[in-house]
Amino acid sequence: SDDGKVRGRFLLKLSGEAFSGGGGLGVDPDVVHAIAREIAAVVRDGAQIAIVIGGGNFFRGAELQVRGMDRARSDYMGMLGTVMNCLALQDFLEKEGVDCRVQTAITMGQVAEPYIPLRAVRHLEKGRVVIFGAGMGMPYFSTDTTAAQRALEIDAEALLMGKNGVDGVYDSDPKTNPDAVKFDHLGYGEVITRELKVADATAVTLCRDNKLPIVVFELLAEGNIARAVKGEKIGTLVGD
Ligand code: UDP
Repeated sequence: SDDGKVRGRFLLKLSGEAFSGGGGLGVDPDVVHAIAREIAAVVRDGAQIAIVIGGGNFFRGAELQVRGMDRARSDYMGMLGTVMNCLALQDFLEKEGVDCRVQTAITMGQVAEPYIPLRAVRHLEKGRVVIFGAGMGMPYFSTDTTAAQRALEIDAEALLMGKNGVDGVYDSDPKTNPDAVKFDHLGYGEVITRELKVADATAVTLCRDNKLPIVVFELLAEGNIARAVKGEKIGTLVGD
């Protein structure tokens, strides 16, 4: 719009791996600070932002399972890992002067509110950021699927998937194939049949069935979150 204000409600999915700042494990406060600054800017401009953060910088259930652990228990470890990312981001958002609530799908009253969708929407309407932690609270699901489900439940207009080290969806892995071609636009069906790396199939199917657009973009490039929120052509748009 002309007044420089952005409008609309978005679900931003942040790569957990990005939070580690390249170290693979744990949280790099400098990275979280930089991400918080970008989110604070778009919230000040008027966007309503809800967030889901991955947990790949702590534990992935499937990886622990391969190493002999029970899958459901290791998935719970994965979900608990995401909560640490949520608290780190909440802290830096509040330092930027943005009110922020964490809501978790596994109740832990000392650190976060429980997941209450109507209350989440109220927070957003008041200009607060809401971060959804602990995935969906269910083993065998991913934070991508959580992001799609939460986006639908809070009636977000798009799912903004911030990736770590890749600026969109390619026909093959650009890290190993120099001839990989990036898509500007993709249909949901193509993503599913070609098994393109947008999100897991459960998440993409949920978006397709409910016509929720997905924007895949590089999270750590400066200004990218604002570009995605403003609807600028960035990364890859997945839709019909
Ligand atoms: N997880 C889960 N249920 C959910 C969300 C996450 O069991 O609803 C677990 C799962 O083990 C997953 C881990 O939490 O591997 C971290 O989530 P994420 O989606 O980030 O895994 P990644 O995409 O990094 O492999």
